[in-house]
Amino acid sequence: SKIDSPHLPRMSVYHYLFPFKKYKSKHRTRFYYYKEQNLEKPTFINGLNGKFLTRKEIEEKSKSLSTGLKLKKIEKDEIGCLFGMNSLEWVISCFAIQALGGIVSPANYAYQPAELLHQLKDSTASYAFVQPSLLPVFLKALELDSEIKIPDNKIFLLCDQSEKDILKNKGGIEEEWSNRFLCLDELYEKPGTPKRFQDGMEERTAYLCYSSGTTGKGKGVETSHHNITSQVQALNCCYEPIKYNDVILAMLPFSHIYGLTVSIHQPLTVNGTVVILPRFEEIAFLEAVQRFKVTWALVVPPILIALLNSPNVEKYDISSIRGLMSGAAPLSSDLVEAFEKKFPNIKVTQGYGLTETSPVSNVMNIEESKVKGRNGKIGKILPTYQARLVDQLTGKDVEPFDRGELWLRGPSVMKGYWKNQKATSEVFAPGGWYKTGDIATIDKEGYFSIVDRVKELIKYKGFQVPPAELEALLLTHPEITDVGVIGVYSKEQATELPRAYVVPKGGISSLPTEKSKNEFSLKIQEWVASKVSNQKKLRGGVILIDIIPKSPSGKILRKDLRALSIREEEER
Ligand code: AMP
Repeated sequence: SKIDSPHLPRMSVYHYLFPFKKYKSKHRTRFYYYKEQNLEKPTFINGLNGKFLTRKEIEEKSKSLSTGLKLKKIEKDEIGCLFGMNSLEWVISCFAIQALGGIVSPANYAYQPAELLHQLKDSTASYAFVQPSLLPVFLKALELDSEIKIPDNKIFLLCDQSEKDILKNKGGIEEEWSNRFLCLDELYEKPGTPKRFQDGMEERTAYLCYSSGTTGKGKGVETSHHNITSQVQALNCCYEPIKYNDVILAMLPFSHIYGLTVSIHQPLTVNGTVVILPRFEEIAFLEAVQRFKVTWALVVPPILIALLNSPNVEKYDISSIRGLMSGAAPLSSDLVEAFEKKFPNIKVTQGYGLTETSPVSNVMNIEESKVKGRNGKIGKILPTYQARLVDQLTGKDVEPFDRGELWLRGPSVMKGYWKNQKATSEVFAPGGWYKTGDIATIDKEGYFSIVDRVKELIKYKGFQVPPAELEALLLTHPEITDVGVIGVYSKEQATELPRAYVVPKGGISSLPTEKSKNEFSLKIQEWVASKVSNQKKLRGGVILIDIIPKSPSGKILRKDLRALSIREEEER
C-alpha cells in the first residue's frame, strides 16, 4: 500500500551520506549530490568559536567513534540516547551510531529529569552521549527509576579531552565525573574496514525522535533509513531551499526532526557548510551570519519576530542571507510582509511537516514564494508524497478547495510508533494514509495552507507541548480537582502559549477575592514551572473555572476551551 519509487536510494543513512567509492560510481545517476563534494571544506562549524570539521574529518571521526563503540561491546541495533545542545560532538556521535547500524534517540536538551526518564525508559536506550553540563539532569533521571540501568561505562561525555580537563580542574563533582565517564576522543579507535550493511537495512529504524502525535504523551517515532534518504532526495531534486554550496545556520535543536534532517543530513548532500549554534540568541545569530557569510537559515516564526524588533541588526552585515525557511509552526502572512519590508533582500519561505513525516511534506521555494498572495502558504506537496483532504466526520475526501484533514502517504512517512501498535493504528487509515491532525486547504495552483489543528498538540516556538502531559501533572497537585490545557495564540510573540483552565478544590467560591484567585493562579504557574522544561511553562496563564467542558465519554472539549479563550480575549 506504500507508494514509493524505484529511483529512490535503498541504503542506510550512513552509506548515503558517506558512500564507498565503488558504490558511488555504480549509483552515480541516482544521486543528485554527487556533482562535486569538497572533502577538505569546513562542513560543520562551531558558530561561537569557529572550530570546524571538514567533511573528511566528520567521516573519519564518526568511523573511529563507531569502532570505539563496538569495542565497548555496543552492538548494532542498540539504541543510543543523545542528550545535548547542538554541537560538533553531537554530529560526530550521531553519525558514529549510524555507522554502527544503531538507532539514535535524540532528547531535547531542555528536558527536566522526569521528561528525560520517559524517553530513556520508553526507547529502551542502552547507552548515552551526554553534554557535561546536562549530566546532573541525566543522572537524576536515572536515579528516579531503578529499572533504568545505563552503566557508567556506557555513558559518554559529549566533549573532547580538552574540555574534560576543564572539568577536572574545577575539582569537586566535576572531577568525579571526568574520572567516571569517557569523552569522545578517549573512545576513538582506528576504524576497521567498513562493511556494507546487509540487505533490508533501509527499512530498519535509524532514528527515534519523540513526538506526542495526535494525543497523549511523547512516543518514539520510528524513522527508517529510507524515510530519511527519500526525504533528502526529494528536497534536493525538486525543491531548493538549501542549495549547492549554501552556508546554513543551524540553531534549531538537532533533537527535533526539522533540525536533524534539514540541518545535519541534507546539507551534506549539497556540499553545504553548516554553522552550528547551540540555540537562537540574537547577537550570536548576527555575529555568526556576518562572520561565516551565512546564506540560509532554518527558523521558527518567533525568530523572525526577534529579528524584526531587534535594534542590533543594523550593526551587522547580514547581506549574505538569501533566504530564511520557517517551519514547525504557523507563520502568518502579516509577519512575512512586515519582515520583508524591513529586510527587502531576504526572502522568507515556509515549509510544513511533522516528526512522523521525516519531516517535510510541503515547502515553497524562493521563486514560487515571490508571487503575490502566496505568503502564509506552505507550498506544494513534495513529489514523494500523496495527499488527501478528508472530512473528519464522514472519512470522505472534501469537495475541491474545501478544508479537510490532511492525510499523507509516501516513502518518508514513519514506520510507526515505537512498541506502540495501538497508537500507530490510531493514526494510520487503510491504504497507509497518515492522518496529520492538521486542517488544510489547497488552492487552484496546488499550494496548500494550514488553517487549523484538530489534534491535541500545542506548539511553543516550534517545540511540542503535549496538553495531556501538563494535565496529568496538574492533577497531581493537591489543590486541583480538574484541568484542561490548551494553546492560546500570541501575535506579539508569533507563538502559541500553553494555558491551563483549572478547577480548584472546593470550587472557585473557595477563593472569594480577586487577590486570592490571582495568588492561586500564580502559585500553580510557578509550581508547574519548577517541574517541566522551559517550553511547557504555563505562559498563557492559569484561569480558574468551575467545570471543565467534557464530552459524554469524558473527553475534554478543547474546542470549547479555545472558544472560551477567544471570548476572554475579546472582553479584555
Ligand atoms: P512536529 O512533529 O514537532 O514537527 O510538529 C508537527 C506539527 O507542527 C504539525 O502537525 C503542525 O501542527 C505544526 N506545523 C509544522 N509546520 C507548520 C506550518 N508551516 N504551519 C502550521 N503548522 C505547522
